[in-house]
Amino acid sequence: AAKQRNDGAVVYDPAMDKSSEKSLSLLTELRNAIERNEFRLHVQPKIMLDTGKVVGMESLVRWVHPERGNVFPDEFIPFAEQTGFIRVLTRWVMERSAELCHELASKGHHLKVSVNLSTRDLLDQDLPAKFADLLARHKLSPGSFCLEITESAIMDDPVRAQTTLERLSAMGVDLSIDDFGTGYSSLAYLKRLPVNELKIDKSFVLNMENDVGDSKIVRSTIDLGHNMGLRVVAEGIESEAVWRLLAKMGCDQGQGYFMSRPIPGDQLIGWLEKWQA
Ligand code: C2E
Ligand code: CA
Ligand code: CA
Ligand code: CA
Repeated sequence: AAKQRNDGAVVYDPAMDKSSEKSLSLLTELRNAIERNEFRLHVQPKIMLDTGKVVGMESLVRWVHPERGNVFPDEFIPFAEQTGFIRVLTRWVMERSAELCHELASKGHHLKVSVNLSTRDLLDQDLPAKFADLLARHKLSPGSFCLEITESAIMDDPVRAQTTLERLSAMGVDLSIDDFGTGYSSLAYLKRLPVNELKIDKSFVLNMENDVGDSKIVRSTIDLGHNMGLRVVAEGIESEAVWRLLAKMGCDQGQGYFMSRPIPGDQLIGWLEKWQA
């Protein structure tokens, strides 16, 4: 079920595996990957669009498979969610993110780290306790973390999601609605949930300087977010023109290939020094 993509990455599609035997072997491989240290933490900087100051980073996991090479998250996260392996992976990402955050802070870079949560994570009643333990062990304040949740993860079980999110929010961690505008969400939930940030999906941002429809959606989302007292972040900024346009529309923060692709965590310090120069 592996095929070569035009950018050289190998695509692994579990849906192509007809037999449950093969799915089982992917699950085994994922489990082994933790022990064999095949996951890598990449981070993408988050930037204030008015000043260019770096204020945060998003953790994005990579899997360096011994035979298949770089496997991208879209190719194994859905499978990890189906099987429940995602909880193990989320814990791994949280630990690495906390370590990196601590290390950066010790070198004078105080960045908020954003971690992606899945539906399964949200349904885990122990998540707030595990998170509190993580913060204590790494001597980090809750404010150094932002947890990103998609609309669909919330809508899966809105009542339970709300309970978990309220407990996390009460601890002082930031919560963000990821991929805003792509899922089936209800504005009523947006109003009720204790979120701090709204992230505009890159599908609306990538081509917004040429597409009037996209640009209207982006503008309205920024206004909606601000009217609800939320910070608004745009992802998928690939050009200076889009950065300028977003800044003019009052969008608070952004991330994208124009500033930096996701890079290995240990390369961030070097990148920050170049960015600030
Ligand atoms: P996401 O959370 O929406 O992450 C943003 C994705 O957009 C990342 O893809 C990032 O590399 C990509 N991106 C950033 N800037 C640009 C840009 O300027 N142009 C374009 N074309 N793309 C850009 P990535 O790293 O492949 O991750 C894909 C998805 O996999 C993520 O979407 C997220 O849903 C999931 N994912 C990644 N890491 C984790 C993780 O640790 N845990 C969980 N639960 N999900 C993860
Ligand atoms: Ca995200
Ligand atoms: Ca996103
Ligand atoms: Ca996405």
